[in-house]
Amino acid sequence: MTCRTTGTVAKRFPPARYHYGYRTTPLSGNIINGLGESQKRRARQVFHGSGARQLEWSALESFFGLTMPLGIYLRNALNRWELRKSDGPVARSRLAVSDPAAMAEDLKSLARRSGAGAVGITALTENALFQGQQADYSTAIVVALAQDYETMQAVTTRKAAMETVTTYRDISRIVIRLAAHIRSLGWRARAYGESADLLHIPLAINAGLGQLGKHGSVIGTAFGSNFRLASVLTDIPLALDGPVDIGVDDLCLGCQRCTIDCPADAISDTKLMVRGEKKWYVDFDKCVMYFVKTLGCGICIEVCPWSRPDRGPSLSATLLRKRAARSASEGGPKV
Ligand code: SF4
Ligand code: SF4
Repeated sequence: MTCRTTGTVAKRFPPARYHYGYRTTPLSGNIINGLGESQKRRARQVFHGSGARQLEWSALESFFGLTMPLGIYLRNALNRWELRKSDGPVARSRLAVSDPAAMAEDLKSLARRSGAGAVGITALTENALFQGQQADYSTAIVVALAQDYETMQAVTTRKAAMETVTTYRDISRIVIRLAAHIRSLGWRARAYGESADLLHIPLAINAGLGQLGKHGSVIGTAFGSNFRLASVLTDIPLALDGPVDIGVDDLCLGCQRCTIDCPADAISDTKLMVRGEKKWYVDFDKCVMYFVKTLGCGICIEVCPWSRPDRGPSLSATLLRKRAARSASEGGPKV
């Protein structure tokens, strides 16, 4: 197949099994994602958008939505309906923020009381915005909410898919509430839940919620990868968190659990060049076909050893201790 943009040949583009969803075969998601590109550039949206823009793979997404069991389809539709409250009027009287650290703590506390499992704050950077989007806010508050581990062991069943959409509903409610509270203080804030036109993963990493794993999802100590993300973009002055090193690469470089268990053989065992950065990468074209067929798949995040409840802190401590010991035996600086 020849790429309509670059004229290059996409050698690994899969057969369009859902050909009746397209008038024309979509451009490979790996080309859109910038696989193999050595120049830094912002991401282009492929799939899972808000619906505000027509995406290259929108037809498959529509197919995905329409072929879901009715209960899951309705829950999803309800989630999207609730997200109409993502933004709203800002109170005229503005609360002066003299202590951004205290305000950050207040907002994190509100998020936790609303059910959030973990919260981090970071500057809104260009790598979280798709091409063509403007950075209208300065700061992102990123929220993580765990899925029930036992239920999610049943991926790829209807029960697990329902747990995922329910988690998306609950996390959307948390960020909607947080954004409304910030607007009541006289500052702009907008919630971004499921299918938002925003890259939650780089924000979560910068906000200290975890590191990128080989399976392309964030891994944190609290829930491994068994969680969903949502964000609030705002202008209220807040103290920022920073990225963390919990030892994810130390394990991923040797572990192959997700690469072996991925039925679509979509997870690369080595880091690849993507838009000017070498990183873990999941083959979009291979993953999406299985993902769509199986109510959202998610096998890779459930088999990951980090996702076992209460495993993260001790796993991280062990990996960092071993790294420090290696470094010491090699005469390098202790970590
Ligand atoms: S299963 Fe193993 S290789 Fe895959 S993300 Fe988890 S730790 Fe990394
Ligand atoms: S979601 Fe499923 S198909 Fe996609 S990378 Fe993970 S295990 Fe593979």
